[in-house]
Amino acid sequence: MSVNYAAGLSPYANKGVCGLPEEFDGPEELKAKVETLAQLIKESQYLVVHSGAGISTSSGIPDFRGPKGVWTLEEKGETPHFNTTFEDARPTLTHLALLGLQRAGYLKYLISQNVDGLHVRSGFPRDLLSELHGNMFVEECEKCGRQYVREKVIGVMGLKPTGRYCDVVRSRGLRACRGKLISTILDWEDALPDKDLNKADEASRRADLALTLGTSMQIKPAADLPLLTKRKGGKIVIVNLQPTKHEKHAHLRINGYVDEVMKLLMERLGLDIPKWEGPTVCESSTVSLKTEADVKPACAVTAKGKVKKDVVKEERKREALAPEDDGGIKEEMVSVKREKTDCPSVINKEK
Ligand SMILES: [Zn+2]
Repeated sequence: MSVNYAAGLSPYANKGVCGLPEEFDGPEELKAKVETLAQLIKESQYLVVHSGAGISTSSGIPDFRGPKGVWTLEEKGETPHFNTTFEDARPTLTHLALLGLQRAGYLKYLISQNVDGLHVRSGFPRDLLSELHGNMFVEECEKCGRQYVREKVIGVMGLKPTGRYCDVVRSRGLRACRGKLISTILDWEDALPDKDLNKADEASRRADLALTLGTSMQIKPAADLPLLTKRKGGKIVIVNLQPTKHEKHAHLRINGYVDEVMKLLMERLGLDIPKWEGPTVCESSTVSLKTEADVKPACAVTAKGKVKKDVVKEERKREALAPEDDGGIKEEMVSVKREKTDCPSVINKEK
């Protein structure tokens, strides 16, 4: 499938500021800033990373608001250029460095706005990852909430039925759940997934260091999550080429390519960047890595009843920050009722 995910979304007027010029720190300045970042990471107790489309551009997937971004070109009446498909896209150095930071114990939680599935396919543990806008490779049972990570993109967006059904067997002798599977990709008007947003919110409040990579921080509520960290006395470090919405909140601001920054950072921390050997899905940070082919859908499903999707729906929609909105955090956005879903997700071959 083409990577033109954006073309599958509804028309939407307010997409934020697009096409701002990029800025670059000189080599010495960049090095010094990365040194500072390495120190902050070493001193941190709970590092949370927030990733945006900018971390996937080097894999051939365009961003949205960069000089050649999807929305930037749309404003000019041009079509974005795609160098890959979602299935063929490889995790970038940044994706793999984040995996290395997690394995080394520095990175405690990862929050992404990306739908390209590269964090999951790089093998980043899914229980330490919130994908706030969905994942092109994941479909979910609307009845029991179980998620299925597929090898190919789902091909349907906007939380719509995919045509497949849940095959969870609830207990011995009973028939399968048979709930409709739906896409996890949000359209503009869709509320963010409760479980992912709640976990992201919790991690952001707990964090003492928030590192944002490749996001212009314009889309709420994702963009405001790092501010929760600052509110609790933590620091924000922003790595992005274009100006972001929350510049003034940054303790440290790095203008550089994320891959270059992460490469220098891993060197400074004395850590190896894991190699990628094809799509690998890791469900839990507490179990060893398995490849997709090895993993059987053997998890017990304990969640009962329908997963509620409409809790405070209004506050959980995506929207671009207004020009005068410098990031005051709406309490109602972050104090949502927690929906407990015990249903573990599994990796499953496409049926
Ligand atoms: Zn189900």
